[in-house]
Amino acid sequence: MNEKSSEKKVRHVLGLSGGKDSTALAFYLQGRVPDIEYFFCDTHKELPETYAYLKKLEILLGKKITLLESERGFDHWLNVYGGFLPSPKARWCTKQLKIIPTEKFIGNDKAISYIAIRADEDRVGYISTKPNIKPVFPFMKAGLVKEDIVKIIEESGIGMPEYYNWRSRSGCYFCFFQRKIEWVRLSEIHPNLFERAVRYEQEHSDGRKYSWNQEESLRELIKRKDRIIEDHKKMMELKKKNLPNRPLMEVFDSVLDDEAEDFCFVCNL
Ligand code: SF4
Repeated sequence: MNEKSSEKKVRHVLGLSGGKDSTALAFYLQGRVPDIEYFFCDTHKELPETYAYLKKLEILLGKKITLLESERGFDHWLNVYGGFLPSPKARWCTKQLKIIPTEKFIGNDKAISYIAIRADEDRVGYISTKPNIKPVFPFMKAGLVKEDIVKIIEESGIGMPEYYNWRSRSGCYFCFFQRKIEWVRLSEIHPNLFERAVRYEQEHSDGRKYSWNQEESLRELIKRKDRIIEDHKKMMELKKKNLPNRPLMEVFDSVLDDEAEDFCFVCNL
């Protein structure tokens, strides 16, 4: 095999999350990286806004987004794990629904994996331990920060994902990394999904009860809804004073970042 044909075997892959950063990276790499493959790890439990956004993205990119794990979503794996809900300390969901499918998709091929970490972020994202997968960070390399990413999104014509009005990150509607105010907003904007999240806490054949949030169940949380909204408003007021003339979305984002204890490096790019 000559050098040229072995070079051809290197795949270029970009995992999309339905969030702004990976979306912006897809547009940024258009024309820069030919033959890039887009994929999305489908838990079957994303917000409807995310699925709609991905469809729009596929049209604008003019290229198929491969859905991974489209035949076995969260419920399949919940069953395998005996009904044990995932949590920040037991993140089987990320492993089974994101990491393993991604590594299977790439297999033993040599691949360059494009990761949408920005230059203004203090995190590394998920890096595969497989030696055939080489991570690269185009935004970090080019020194692009949040403002640049917003500009790319605006110029591409896709706009921000709709859920950014009430939630700061992509991921499953019941993601345990959500802030309290995001649970409240979920109950208002998607009451059916909130109820489904409650049912995941309550319905187990052996009578066990779990909660998404370590401190309280969703029923308990929602009883304190007014207080949570009030606290959030106060935080927003404080933040607005520190971030004058900034768009409301940025203020909201910043408040949630302050409250963040953790989030998913794999799901929320
Ligand atoms: S978004 Fe949250 S619940 Fe869904 S797979 Fe990622 S960590 Fe798990």
